[in-house]
Amino acid sequence: MNETRASGPRVLLRRLRELMAAALEPQERLDRIVREIASNMVAEVCSLYVLRADSVLELYATEGLNPGSVHRVQLRLGQGLVGTIAASARPLSLSDAQKHPAFAYLPETGEEIYHSFLGVPVLRAGRTLGVLVVQNRTMRHYREDEVEALETTAMVIAEMIATGDLARLIRPGVELDLSRPASFTGLALNEGVGLGHVVLHEPRIVIKNLFAEDPETELGRLEAALGSLRLSIDDMLSRREVASEGEHRAVLEAYRMFANDRGWVRRLEEAVRNGLTAEAAVEKVQSDMRARMLHMSDPFMRERMSDFDDLGNRLLRQLLGHGPEMLAETLPKDAIIVARSMGAAELLDYPRDRLRGLVLEDGAPNSHVVIVARAMGLPVAGQMKGAVSMAENGDAIIVDGEDGRIHLRPQQDVEAAYAEKVRFRARRQQLYRELRDKPTLSKDGVTVDLMMNAGLSVDLPQLAEAGAAGIGLFRTELQFMVAAQFPRAEEQERLYREVLRVAAGKPVTFRTIDIGGDKVLPYFKDAVPEENPALGWRAIRLTLDRPALLRTQVRALLRAAGGRELKAMLPMVTEVDEIRQAREVIDREVRHLSRFAHDLPNSLKLGAMVEVPSLLFQLDELMQAVDFVSVGSNDLFQFMTATDRGNTRMSDRFDPLSVPFLRALKQVVDAGRRWHTPVTLCGELAGRPISAMALIGIGFRSISMAPAAIGPVKAMLLELPVAELSARLEQAMSGKGTDGSLRALLSAFAEEHGIPL
Ligand code: PEP
Ligand code: MG
Repeated sequence: MNETRASGPRVLLRRLRELMAAALEPQERLDRIVREIASNMVAEVCSLYVLRADSVLELYATEGLNPGSVHRVQLRLGQGLVGTIAASARPLSLSDAQKHPAFAYLPETGEEIYHSFLGVPVLRAGRTLGVLVVQNRTMRHYREDEVEALETTAMVIAEMIATGDLARLIRPGVELDLSRPASFTGLALNEGVGLGHVVLHEPRIVIKNLFAEDPETELGRLEAALGSLRLSIDDMLSRREVASEGEHRAVLEAYRMFANDRGWVRRLEEAVRNGLTAEAAVEKVQSDMRARMLHMSDPFMRERMSDFDDLGNRLLRQLLGHGPEMLAETLPKDAIIVARSMGAAELLDYPRDRLRGLVLEDGAPNSHVVIVARAMGLPVAGQMKGAVSMAENGDAIIVDGEDGRIHLRPQQDVEAAYAEKVRFRARRQQLYRELRDKPTLSKDGVTVDLMMNAGLSVDLPQLAEAGAAGIGLFRTELQFMVAAQFPRAEEQERLYREVLRVAAGKPVTFRTIDIGGDKVLPYFKDAVPEENPALGWRAIRLTLDRPALLRTQVRALLRAAGGRELKAMLPMVTEVDEIRQAREVIDREVRHLSRFAHDLPNSLKLGAMVEVPSLLFQLDELMQAVDFVSVGSNDLFQFMTATDRGNTRMSDRFDPLSVPFLRALKQVVDAGRRWHTPVTLCGELAGRPISAMALIGIGFRSISMAPAAIGPVKAMLLELPVAELSARLEQAMSGKGTDGSLRALLSAFAEEHGIPL
């Protein structure tokens, strides 16, 4: 008895595989499949219902019910037992179906003579595609293993539906649910619009062999796969191109650490000992992790978990023999990657020239993969819950990284509207490219340096592409954020050297690590949760308390900049005395290196960021204490207006282009002029043409922004009569009743002078 129970599903699956491979008309194939299931499960009836785009379940095949009812019987989602199963995505097993409150009598089927009923949803990645039912005349109880067997069979049918096998059975105008257009709204994580075709990052691997007879053999397979996984990571790490890509390397190093994690390996081995095959064990440990991830609120723990998820996928590929190298060949030229969650290294595995966008079910603005995608210039939309199960490989898709929306299988009018948007953007990009080599002069001949912000080596090609005058802000903490442990001194030095090499003499301002606040390093054990992290132990406060961190970084910077100019900048300075303390650390390092006859920078400039309002009241002292100053308008505005910069509820409440904030900025510019200390600004404000215009109007002659912003800001600058705007602003900011926003004034000025904003 046990023998037949165990072999029943296996025999059925083998038969189904044969039927799928046979040269049959689709209807004939379906008819034979339901017949096969009925006979294998000793049921009088087996029926398949398929979900259509209009939320109707249509009978596609039956053994046992009236054959004339095929394609005629239709149930709405939620209607009858079948509709209930589809709506709830859960199986239903009843010994007397007609007693169930949801039972709906359909005279055309002749099903009244059947008492027992077992129905399971046809699921694919959590999405319902139809319902598979068996029925018996007698009142019987279906056993647990029969429910499981029918569910496994339904997985095979799901595969058939999803691969378009039923296409020829669909009447025109009644599409299957699978091809219904679907739109999702989530988070805009990186601007830009991408049109292309879905590439599911985790192609659905149907694990056919769940149960293993011999755990020892499976343990051997698991061990071998883990071995090759580790080797492949080592191999990637040793590749030349990886060595020069700092963050890629850091991520891979994190993977190497995880691949040797005892806890993870132990859980995998346990699952195998419980009777699963190696691949089923990976799936199980992975889905346990995923379930835990869903309930985890700490984003940094989630990030670590998703690294494990990523690693699990790699391991599955090892076990099933799908190498990532297959990707490049099969990847469409306009790939939009759709993933539940994703590790940064995995994104870097795809060939950049074929990527048009990234969609994540997870994804937070500061997750590693988003940081890297942003550096690669991909439109990114996140928090798209359900996108993975609704999408199929090859589906048309639009990702709108500006509004945080995606459109799957878009209708023609939506596609046409977006195609126009993309063409418009492309024309504009072309325009900006043409401006690239023009000098950054205003209409009345004022030079303004347009610099770019960066933080990863993937950013560097943008320096030439965007035509930036230099790097006004290099956020060194990003290297720390994509790593699994503190980057070693040599790794830091290697990145800084690379940056200076690519900059080829253009100025670069390295900001010392600005961690804490919203930039938490999960491996930094000294950090304790704070009630107000933005006001807490972060940036220079933290590095002055942990001088070893600062010393290591300063040494790496000094060594990397040997023989050239080094510009270093301190974040979140609150008191001028902090600059003196940091300078002491730097001086000590300079002395140390010169003692060992190291090649030192030929000039060392130390700057401070103006981000904490207290500095506004020590501007004269500040300007004397440093070689340059850069305003961090993101933080300065957050602290001046007491509004959390990450809180979307308040993001439009106060306007940075208002008189009080512009007055504060102007005071910084004026103090810089008094003391001949160069002043720049590197917050988001610099990257929007209207606010960049205001900044130039109040006296900034250097601003630093995201590389993509340089084109639009330059187009604005070329048409801007600076002196006239300055006079207009001066008047507006000194007059009475001018405590409100100057946005309207600025827009009107631009309109009047034909300035593109
Ligand atoms: C700022 O605060 O404006 C700034 C440039 O620094 P960050 O955005 O990295 O905090
Ligand atoms: Mg800041």
